Amino acid sequence: MIRDRATLDLLIQNIGRFVRERLVPNESLVAETDAVPEPIIAEMKRLGLFGLSIPEAYGGLGLTMEEEAEVAFVLGGTSPAFRSLIGTNNGIGSQGIILDGTAEQKAHYLPRLARGEMVAAFALTEPGSGSDAASLSTTAVRHDDHYLLNGTKRYITNAPEAGIFTVMARTDPADKSARGISAFLVERGTPGLSLGKVDRKMGQRGAHTCDVIFEDCRVPAEQLIGGREGVGFRTAMKVLDKGRLHIAAVCVGVSERMLSDALGYALERRQFGQPIAEFQLVQAMLADSKTEIYAARSMVLDAARRRDEGLDVATEAACAKLFASEMCGRVADRAVQIHGGAGYVSDYAIERFYRDVRLFRIYEGTSQIQQLVIARNMIRQAKP
Ligand SMILES: Cc1cc2nc3c(=O)[nH]c(=O)nc-3n(C[C@H](O)[C@H](O)[C@H](O)COP(=O)(O)OP(=O)(O)OC[C@H]3O[C@@H](n4cnc5c(N)ncnc54)[C@H](O)[C@@H]3O)c2cc1C
Repeated sequence: MIRDRATLDLLIQNIGRFVRERLVPNESLVAETDAVPEPIIAEMKRLGLFGLSIPEAYGGLGLTMEEEAEVAFVLGGTSPAFRSLIGTNNGIGSQGIILDGTAEQKAHYLPRLARGEMVAAFALTEPGSGSDAASLSTTAVRHDDHYLLNGTKRYITNAPEAGIFTVMARTDPADKSARGISAFLVERGTPGLSLGKVDRKMGQRGAHTCDVIFEDCRVPAEQLIGGREGVGFRTAMKVLDKGRLHIAAVCVGVSERMLSDALGYALERRQFGQPIAEFQLVQAMLADSKTEIYAARSMVLDAARRRDEGLDVATEAACAKLFASEMCGRVADRAVQIHGGAGYVSDYAIERFYRDVRLFRIYEGTSQIQQLVIARNMIRQAKP
């Protein structure tokens, strides 16, 4: 749902200009230094990028899913590391509070997240539980007015920067199912919370992950999301449904950027006396990429509109994430191919993008997990 086309177009124009003039010229610097420069972070705050999907009542822009998808298409036009920095405040880091938080939790955290004064992280994955997230073993044991958390969370995006962590932990040790899991808001600096060393990754330098370790970490009882035990896994799954649509939209945007780079190169590079763009085998790679991007874009927008209508889009979000992230991998591969040897050396952005986009098929549910979600929902609906 687009609430006001003219207002959204203005926002998209501003963000598009910021991407072209400020982010694209700094891509190599971010990759070399593994950090987004402070002045750029300040500009991101001023543009409202940390609060795109946080309700207006809490100081955010309150974008609908369709509006957020259009913005994500534009943000995809540059290194995914920039998007990652604002991604958790708009997605997995804040959505648990927005969807299921108490009025006090919303009032306390959302305005600061919207302004970018605080970064939020989402801590579900553990060393022993990734795809099988419901088998997590971090525990939260209640003692009077607080819980004691013990366990380790792995690969947590923006953990080194985060001021607040949404942490899924088992409050009912007897219940090994998803119903034994609750979600907590744990502030950085809480005694017993520590961080591991920053992970060295294949790509997306400038975006950081690390372990988050809880050792008798004392969390006040009012930090239980929604004030209810046993519903934390459901909260996490709702958060991921939305997150998957956002990632699918980013995949579309990044694919458009990679294709635009590939087309530009194909028009410039000459072999056999003509631009390589004139060769039909190169044209096939361009055309297949264009077609697949269009398909993914259409899927994302359709699923986003359905979500805005209040429909359950668990299946459509998984379809969009599966198709868009796999499509993004194929486009990256073709774009490297079109660049030839230049695609394999780091003078061109495509070498970096090829590594950066590999992650989209892995996090917020691997492609195989999306397939399982889609098929399980189909089978459930088919049963009488
Ligand atoms: C850079 C990065 C950032 C991340 N950020 C976060 C974050 O902010 N918060 C967070 O909680 N997590 C985060 N993650 C974790 C991410 O979500 C997991 O890595 C992902 O869900 C896969 O889990 P796993 O790594 O344990 O792989 P595994 O679950 O061990 O999977 C390994 C392989 O087995 C396959 N597989 C597993 N089960 C099945 C099955 N039933 N059927 C078929 N195939 C199967 C998988 O598809 C995969 O190919 C991040 C990871 C990375 C790398």
